[in-house]
Amino acid sequence: MKRILVDQDGVLANYEAGFEFWFRGLFPGYDVIPYEQRNTFYQEDQYGIIYPELKERIEAIPRLNGFYASLPLIRGAVEGIEKLAESNDVWICTSPKVDNPYCASEKFEWIRRFLREKWVRRTIITKDKTVVKGDYLIDDKPNIQGEYVPEWEQIVYDHPYNRGIEKKRFTWDKIDDFLRWVN
Ligand SMILES: [Mg+2]
Repeated sequence: MKRILVDQDGVLANYEAGFEFWFRGLFPGYDVIPYEQRNTFYQEDQYGIIYPELKERIEAIPRLNGFYASLPLIRGAVEGIEKLAESNDVWICTSPKVDNPYCASEKFEWIRRFLREKWVRRTIITKDKTVVKGDYLIDDKPNIQGEYVPEWEQIVYDHPYNRGIEKKRFTWDKIDDFLRWVN
C-alpha cells in the first residue's frame, strides 16, 4: 500500500475555472485566456502581461473572501480519490494562501461540501509539502520547493501551464493506468 498525497487546487478543485468565473464578474469586457493557452502557474503572471492595467486587481482575486469556497470540482475527482483510496493510503495535502485569512477554513469547507467528511480528517494544510512523508504527491505545481528534499515523487496533474516538466503525468480519467503502475 502506497501513501499518496493529493493536492487540492488544480487537482480536486478547479482553480482555473474558478478564477475565470471571478475574472469575468470583476472585469466584464475583458476576455479570459483560453485554457489551452495558459502557460504560467500563477494566473497573474500571464494575465498581467496581457492586461497590465489589471495586474494588481488580478493578484487580489485569490485573496477575496469566498474565492476558495467557490471553486468548482474537477471532473472525475470525487470518484477518482475514492478509487485511489481503495488500495492506497491517501491524504489531501494543500498549501494555503497565507495572506488570505479565509483560505484555510474555506479549503476545509470545500472538502466537506464536495467530498465525504472523512476527507476533512485526512487533510494536511502546510506551506511546505516537502516535510510531509509519502510515496507520491499528485500536484499541478511545476516547481515544488521547501526545507527538505522530498521523500515523495511528484506526479504532475496535467494542465497546459505545466507541460514543460518532464515527470510522470496524471489526470483522473487515467486513474486505471496509474493504479496498475503504482500497485
Ligand atoms: Mg495545486
